[in-house]
Amino acid sequence: MKRERLYRTDAIILRRTDHKEADRLLTVLTPKLGKLKLLAKGARKITSRKAGHIELFMLTDMQIARSRTWDIITQTQALQTYRGLREDLDKTSQAYYMAELIDRFVEEADANPSLFELFAFTLARLAHAHNSFLLLRHFEIHLLRLTGFQPQLHFCLACNQPLQPVDNFFHFGDGGTFCPVHGQGKAKAQPIPVSTLKVLRYLQTQPWEKVAGLQLTPQTRYQTENLLLGYITHTLERRLKSVAFIHKLRKTK
Ligand SMILES: [Zn+2]
Repeated sequence: MKRERLYRTDAIILRRTDHKEADRLLTVLTPKLGKLKLLAKGARKITSRKAGHIELFMLTDMQIARSRTWDIITQTQALQTYRGLREDLDKTSQAYYMAELIDRFVEEADANPSLFELFAFTLARLAHAHNSFLLLRHFEIHLLRLTGFQPQLHFCLACNQPLQPVDNFFHFGDGGTFCPVHGQGKAKAQPIPVSTLKVLRYLQTQPWEKVAGLQLTPQTRYQTENLLLGYITHTLERRLKSVAFIHKLRKTK
């Protein structure tokens, strides 16, 4: 069957780089086509009618033409500009952070409609949020779930028993929790206080409307953020290494 030359999709712009004299290369996330790399011709000319509609983090309706190298954006229409993100430096950097995570966790053309929804949902709320802390942690834990790295937070990974409300342990490499019996003395396992474990479970299982009402002590905030960041960093490093390894294998064939 012949493929249509033009196609159309919603897209959120994750990344933008200059290309040649007047063009831009965009990395975008779409609901059904996953992550794509697209060429926006003439986008850097001041007179370009397209330029205004390809700002970072915008949700746009794009018409795209297939091409041998990068497919080419032929028309765009802004659906959501999330203006609040661009008017506040902290929010801009938080949106950058989320886009960067998605870019690293998602392979090109790997469709993940739920992840697209999560990103659009979070950007929309971030644009108006007074406190973005819970919003970002909520994003992180669901990003992990939707990309296959959901941490186990309810059972010990060694004995499979439900965790008791005591200090347990968390292991980045194994992706989850251990009871005191199996976590104590395990290399690279770190203690996880009950309060932190409860917050992580709440983030993982409750709808955003309930999560938004959580009140956390500074210590629990700090520990929750640190644990998630540590787990994300570890997961990405391991993933990047395995990708590098696969490329190496292919080359030696
Ligand atoms: Zn155990």
